[in-house]
Amino acid sequence: MQFETDFLIIGSGIAGLSFALKAATLGRVTMVTKKNKVDSSTNRAQGGIACVLDKNDTFADHIRDTLISGAGICDEEVVRMVVENGPECVRELLRIGVHFEQDNNGQLDLGREGGHSTRRIAHAYDLTGHEIECTLLTAASGHPNINILENHIAIDLLLASKSDTAGSEASHRDSCHGAYVLDSQTGEIHSYAAKVTILCSGGTGKVYLYTTNPDIATGDGIAMAYRAGARIANLEFVQFHPTCLYHPKAKNFLISEAVRGEGGRLIDENGRLFMQKYDPRGDLATRDMVARAIDTEMKTSGNDSVFLDITHQPADFIKKRFPHIYKTCLSYGIDMTREPIPVVPAAHYMCGGILTDMAGRSSIESLYALGETACTGLHGGNRLASNSLLEAVVYAEQAFQQCKKDWPELARKNPPSSPSWSSGRAERIEECILITHNWDQIRRLMWDYVGIVRSTQRLHLVQETLAPIQQQIRQHYRDYLLTPDLVELRNIALLADLIVRSALARHESRGLHYIIDYPNQVAEPLQKFTTLQKPPTPAHH
Ligand SMILES: Cc1cc2nc3c(=O)[nH]c(=O)nc-3n(C[C@H](O)[C@H](O)[C@H](O)COP(=O)(O)OP(=O)(O)OC[C@H]3O[C@@H](n4cnc5c(N)ncnc54)[C@H](O)[C@@H]3O)c2cc1C
Repeated sequence: MQFETDFLIIGSGIAGLSFALKAATLGRVTMVTKKNKVDSSTNRAQGGIACVLDKNDTFADHIRDTLISGAGICDEEVVRMVVENGPECVRELLRIGVHFEQDNNGQLDLGREGGHSTRRIAHAYDLTGHEIECTLLTAASGHPNINILENHIAIDLLLASKSDTAGSEASHRDSCHGAYVLDSQTGEIHSYAAKVTILCSGGTGKVYLYTTNPDIATGDGIAMAYRAGARIANLEFVQFHPTCLYHPKAKNFLISEAVRGEGGRLIDENGRLFMQKYDPRGDLATRDMVARAIDTEMKTSGNDSVFLDITHQPADFIKKRFPHIYKTCLSYGIDMTREPIPVVPAAHYMCGGILTDMAGRSSIESLYALGETACTGLHGGNRLASNSLLEAVVYAEQAFQQCKKDWPELARKNPPSSPSWSSGRAERIEECILITHNWDQIRRLMWDYVGIVRSTQRLHLVQETLAPIQQQIRQHYRDYLLTPDLVELRNIALLADLIVRSALARHESRGLHYIIDYPNQVAEPLQKFTTLQKPPTPAHH
């Protein structure tokens, strides 16, 4: 079946919801989200949203901190635009009903995080993302122009081309007019035709074995956009968060940067501080420096973790400032008011993604990308803490303004009808081990060989190992009826390959990308973007 809408939004995190609430003033919005609507990285964000709100803070300082963190390759025009639009976007969140913590004078209580020269983070203690997600969802769920479809996973984009072929393998791809979407409860695949398609599908953490990301973070948007021929950039810049809880039973639990912001110190198993050895900023150095320092400490000592110690702060303060972290650690038998927390680095944030312009437009007409799935130029080689929620809300506004401007023309546009999805002679997959085995293989491979410290030799080895796995997945795709697991497996395999290709293309170490064969930064020519684009395939006849 083909459904029609004005705006098709893929993903219900902060990017998708922020844009949806605005676009609903222009036309009908259909939002597809692959699990429950709350399942997103947004819902897990702890620290908060960075923004110049204090009278002693300045745009110039926030811009400078972002540029320093970005290791020389941020797009300065983008940084300025995002920083300067930040306060209005945060005020808008407040108007929608997001409750950020306030001090006794009714001013926002601003937190401090690594890489920021001052207190600049609006927060709802350590549940900021949950507060934002729930508030935006409440507003969107009750809106007459917004239809949210849970358990609907987008598979591939619908493309209009001169040769009028549709689907991921089309040629002469000029514009996007929707997506094929699998209803995971019925197993049916429908096309959703739209005047504008907006990818808000989040990050790629699940490409790695250890990650702070939720299960949805399989890079689907980037994979779909790549297959459709869009330009993809900077995938080598994977941010590893330095402090993920290390406990055999804990899955993906982050210990927020704000813990170090409030005085938490990293120590080894003998209680010795070590960050000063690596960076003059000590425990408040940027994430790339801290993650690499922990990686070196662990490799040198052979230990499974280092520790984060905030026991010198009063217990009441810790419980009030970090209620969620405190309770979660306690549930694993760790009382952070009395003992250090064992921590390890884990894949956390993808700085690269679908290359967009200042309005959030990808290189394919009528296809936008917002939030973590996009590469706007804001983060450069290393995202500054709490700049991603900010980027999502600012770009939702930029994209909306562009759509509003284009609306007189867009309103007249009728998306072409597209061929129904054909499953050919595919059958139901009986042995799920075929999927889980490849899934585990890829994630382990990426963790072992494409982690915090890389080498050309290991990257080539990954390419050789990935090639037959990708071949198997292509075969599964032909033989079996699609399931969400198969869709995600295909996407993480592609993402793994694209990350490796990006890493091989950058012949220097910069920001989050550290490769032992090229340990230094290249001064000239400055390579701001490592871009990848699928070559056009010949048209089918
Ligand atoms: C533990 C943690 C803590 C963080 N803390 C902070 C912080 O304090 N401050 C900060 O600025 N950033 C933080 N980040 C990063 C930030 O949360 C994310 O970058 C941001 O929330 C991304 O928002 P998004 O809307 O782009 O994607 P998400 O919020 O991840 O939403 C993606 C959506 O897309 C859907 N989706 C994905 N693929 C498909 C598909 N194929 N079909 C249909 N739907 C699909 C998902 O189901 C989900 O609804 C944190 C991240 C994590 C994981």
